[in-house]
Amino acid sequence: MSKHPPMPVLSNTVSHWINGQVVSDASARAQDVFNPATGQPTRKVELATLATVDAAVASARAAFPAWSDMPPIRRARIMNNFLALLNERKDELASIITQEHGKVFTDAQGEVMRGIDIVEFACGAPQLLKGDFTDQVSTGIDNWTLRQSLGVVAGITPFNFPCMVPCWMFPVAIACGNTFILKPSERDPSASIFMAELFKEAGLPDGVFNVVQGDKVAVDGLLEHPDVKAISFVGSTPIAQYIYSRGAELGKRVQALGGAKNHMVVMPDADIDQAVDGLIGAAYGSAGERCMAISVAVLVGDVADKIIPKLAERARTLKIKNGMELDAEMGPIVTRQALERIEGYIEIGVKEGATLVVDGRGLKVPGHEQGFFTGGTLFDNVTSEMRIYKEEIFGPVLVCVRAKDFAQAVELINAHEFGNGVSCYTRDGNVAREFGRRIQVGMVGINVPIPVPMAWHGFGGWKKSLFGDMHAYGEEGVRFYTKQKSIMQRWPETIGKGAEFVMPTAK
Ligand code: NAD
Repeated sequence: MSKHPPMPVLSNTVSHWINGQVVSDASARAQDVFNPATGQPTRKVELATLATVDAAVASARAAFPAWSDMPPIRRARIMNNFLALLNERKDELASIITQEHGKVFTDAQGEVMRGIDIVEFACGAPQLLKGDFTDQVSTGIDNWTLRQSLGVVAGITPFNFPCMVPCWMFPVAIACGNTFILKPSERDPSASIFMAELFKEAGLPDGVFNVVQGDKVAVDGLLEHPDVKAISFVGSTPIAQYIYSRGAELGKRVQALGGAKNHMVVMPDADIDQAVDGLIGAAYGSAGERCMAISVAVLVGDVADKIIPKLAERARTLKIKNGMELDAEMGPIVTRQALERIEGYIEIGVKEGATLVVDGRGLKVPGHEQGFFTGGTLFDNVTSEMRIYKEEIFGPVLVCVRAKDFAQAVELINAHEFGNGVSCYTRDGNVAREFGRRIQVGMVGINVPIPVPMAWHGFGGWKKSLFGDMHAYGEEGVRFYTKQKSIMQRWPETIGKGAEFVMPTAK
């Protein structure tokens, strides 16, 4: 890694990317983009009107016939060029993320790498799009299935992974022959334009990848547009549910990934130091603003008394600073409103009667007094009725629940309305096996705190963490962005005589 993160120069206004170029609409609404570490606005982002959404969809629609007709291997070659450029410029991308999101630079580098993984996966398009063929299903007849692209598809993404989550979507969709419109989060929009420029440089034809910046107006414009055939959404549960129901009503394919409340069970036989390391990184990394962050520790048997003092010590001594400083462990919160919401939850927890072991509120980082910082917070004796247990806080707040045994821990987790990720620390193979089988959660880690699946496995939670039946990326992603067609064929010299009125069977 370089000694200092690079500082790419960004424009003062983040605009849209349509038909292979930056498109600005100075008459439209715009809002400030902040550097959360300084608390200062650094640039503006334009918020698309319906006319801008229409222009993006028209450009994607015009690009679709030629792109979907291009042999997958040629599409994959362009994807390979994009992969090489991303690898070359990855630190600049990470630096853009840190300056708009706040996460520490090394974590942003990790995010970019996990995005790159999916681009690499999408380079396998020719293999991924191979169909199935059965020779001689009846005498002289063959049957095969192939997967065809859908058309114009859109992705709506959250603030917390401005590179990785869009990469869950557009590389796979585009490799499958679709054209794409990304609506990134308005809180950290610059990464999207950086990627769009690299993709053009890689040889992507204009109109195949477009970006509209914006808020609900842009999202609803895409959702309602008759030429948008599928929507991938990642964000909070209420919006995910709204996108899913409205999109389905309009006959679109929708995958809508929502919020989370991820538990980590620590069994009495676990390696306590490993569990502490796992919990600290997973609860406070990226200031808890990860959909796979661990926000609940379920401490089984006598584990709590051993682990809480160690957690408290580590939470109090986290290195919290501007994420551009290379030794930072935790950066600021994305916005002042999010900071107030998180600190509001801490107040709620105190009122609900939980034990506040470490209080992160009111942290001031020297030299960054206006930054949106809060410290790591730790609660003990939290119960399942409390709001701080039930609701997603999405900040560096770890709540500890005590459970008497393994069965109670599993029951607790299975009763929660979210089911994104979960982890269990144990040295007992049978406990690990039973946990993996019984737990009602989409992504499970055994002695792994944040089990985000690799590019070729696919990502998705259960229950209110995902609406729709296809996970993001991996083979499920390929299925989501393609529709199956079955073709049955015979040639005239083998055609039988006369019409057949009974169900054809193998002859
Ligand atoms: P958010 O729901 O506020 O925003 C997500 C996207 O929806 C943004 O692009 C935003 O512009 C748009 N949006 C916001 N309000 C809208 C509305 N009323 N109508 C239409 N569109 C709207 O989420 P966020 O705060 O950006 O991200 C954090 C949330 O995302 C957390 O709940 C987190 O758990 C979740 N998340 C989930 C996953 C997952 O894989 N399940 C991954 C990352 C983040």
